[in-house]
Amino acid sequence: QTDGLLGPAAIRELAQQLGLRPTKTLGQNFLHDANTIRRIVRTAELRPDDVVLEVGPGLGSLTLGLLPAAAAVTAVEIDPRLAALLPETVAARRPDLAGRLTVVEADALRVRELPGPPPTALVANLPYNVAVPVLLHLLELLPTLRRALVLVQAEVAERLAAPPGGAAYGVPSVKAAWYGTARRAGNVGRRVFWPEPNVDSGLVALDRHDPPPGDRAATFAVVDAAFAMRRKGLRAALAGWAGSAAAAETRLRAAGIDPSTRGERLSVAEFARLAGTSPVAGA
Ligand code: SAM
Repeated sequence: QTDGLLGPAAIRELAQQLGLRPTKTLGQNFLHDANTIRRIVRTAELRPDDVVLEVGPGLGSLTLGLLPAAAAVTAVEIDPRLAALLPETVAARRPDLAGRLTVVEADALRVRELPGPPPTALVANLPYNVAVPVLLHLLELLPTLRRALVLVQAEVAERLAAPPGGAAYGVPSVKAAWYGTARRAGNVGRRVFWPEPNVDSGLVALDRHDPPPGDRAATFAVVDAAFAMRRKGLRAALAGWAGSAAAAETRLRAAGIDPSTRGERLSVAEFARLAGTSPVAGA
């Protein structure tokens, strides 16, 4: 590749160099298709002054596509072997852009601060088993993130972007909606990964908006309670959260919500309003 992007042969070579046997627990499925990389980078709509945060750079497939499109890339990788190899790969393939890259060896779920200028965009092919918690953690930790473009399992993409009312709407949809407006931004088949996963993937773009008025932790607590028993009406589903079904009903009515409604019909703003009602004395 003239642009330094990694194709199947380069991916095999790098993996061999490390003696790497990709692990499922870390969601190690590496992109080896330059066209997919270009499409992801295009879809991210980066500005030249963007500071990109990439989670799980792996062998560098996406990193090499992001570097020409941004001012800087901070890549957080949990696997020490991959974190150590990445600067070498970039220096070998794009020496002109190597100065833009900072590699941090860390668990993205546990990072509390990052070196360098605050990231403005998250672009990542996320490890599948922790995709939603990683996304939510980073949106909470880094208010400077203006947008996120993440590649996740197709089913998770559908959930993240689901509007209230449908079967796909659930905890990830509501929590993501706290931070921004999410939409599906394309499908990615399983064949562009090595090793090939058992499921297809989807891109989700999230544009940050102001959160609804209210307390985030309190709102997320009532969301978790509502969807733990998603087949029940909210009066029953929220009995534990409110102290009793009667207390749940009082609080639902105070928030202007029909107590027989199910959680899957409520918007994040309604959950926030419900969380803000006062607990009923003696409930
Ligand atoms: N970005 C590369 C690509 O597209 O080819 C690799 C993506 S692969 C789906 C996920 C990557 O995330 C792997 O490199 C894996 O080691 C890394 N990873 C897994 N869990 C992580 C975590 N908690 N924090 C940071 N990186 C993690």
